[in-house]
Amino acid sequence: LWQEVPLAPPDSIFKLTAAYKADTYPKKVNLGVGAYRDDDSKPWVLPVVKKATEKLLRNEALDHEYLPILGLPEYTAAAAKLILGSDSPALSESRAVSAQTISGTGANHLGALFLTKFYRFNGAKKVYLSNPTWANHHAIFRNVGIEPVDYPYYNPDTISLDLTGLIGSLQEAPPRSVFLLHACAHNPTGVDPTEEEWDTIANVMLEKNHYAFFDCAYQGFASGDLDKDAWAVRHFVQKGVPLLVCQSFAKNAGLYGERVGALHIVSPDKDTADRVRSQLSVLQRSEISNPPSHGARLVELILNDPEMFAEWKQDIKTMSGRIISMRKELHRLLTQVHNTPGNWDHILNQIGMFSFTGLNAEQSKAMIERAHVYMTGNGRISMAGLNSHNIEYFAESLDKVVRG
Ligand code: PMP
Repeated sequence: LWQEVPLAPPDSIFKLTAAYKADTYPKKVNLGVGAYRDDDSKPWVLPVVKKATEKLLRNEALDHEYLPILGLPEYTAAAAKLILGSDSPALSESRAVSAQTISGTGANHLGALFLTKFYRFNGAKKVYLSNPTWANHHAIFRNVGIEPVDYPYYNPDTISLDLTGLIGSLQEAPPRSVFLLHACAHNPTGVDPTEEEWDTIANVMLEKNHYAFFDCAYQGFASGDLDKDAWAVRHFVQKGVPLLVCQSFAKNAGLYGERVGALHIVSPDKDTADRVRSQLSVLQRSEISNPPSHGARLVELILNDPEMFAEWKQDIKTMSGRIISMRKELHRLLTQVHNTPGNWDHILNQIGMFSFTGLNAEQSKAMIERAHVYMTGNGRISMAGLNSHNIEYFAESLDKVVRG
């Protein structure tokens, strides 16, 4: 039995981390993994999360019973407000349905599963994904029988958004196509549309009756401002583009392993929303029965307590601020200290945890082999992996590799 099962390749990011761990070079740098690190390369437990955990532990009435199928209601309601905005017409008209999910990955999966069962696809089941995108998107959709198709997103020549290519794809796709959009802090490029560009995208989506599958894994991480990073989603809701949103608290609350996420489906009216909710419950029941409680309880406390909410915003600013300061310092080192050939302004202009350096596959490999700097083959670095102790070494190594 199982003799015919082919050996799958290891996940590229986890493989990179294993190679980094095995490396004994003292100045080695890990810029692969997408998790926040403090200035000493250590994981950071947000102070507000510590406070919420203490409060939770003091609550003797808490038990380990099952949560409802769609999750902790106080959590899903607060999470919906956070992404859609407390004044969202989708909320006041009771037409948003929220399900607590296994972090952002689970939200993507449940959303994809819901679409494969109930979306009226125009012909074959397809989803349009930005080229490039988070690698897991392909597998998540394929798993439920939806075939991924690329749409142009990033122009390697300008190291910026390929708006013309993106709009062309929206226009050429059959009506009612499903487009996955990164709500903010695009992974892996760090390139986001401007508000004006988002509006253009929304207009074409409306014209063509396309469906927006928003993935929001970095709210607050892009700009340090939760509302600003939700702008695109809220604008699309306001304009009436049909959509759903996948939400994750892995990065912005540092709750990676707790798997706290949500799927929000915005429907045209309450009656439709009620039917959508009933079917989401059926799907969730067969997949996980009910979601885990601990992380959701923590986030619920933080979102619903004004004092803790204010503190969380400060913690987010600490993380996004450190990342932004690393962008500025890297740009300064490359342009003013090393005079590295090329234009490095994209380091400043890109948003969120990742930066596409513009290094090609060969140069990215050379960074690992020659400098012990671990980064993905597409030239992506996690800005969170840089700090005051390693940034000079990184800039120097980058400069050497670029000069060949
Ligand atoms: N979407 C994108 C674009 C991501 O980058 C990530 C995290 N790497 C996720 C979703 C999901 O992450 P998680 O399941 O940890 O919330």
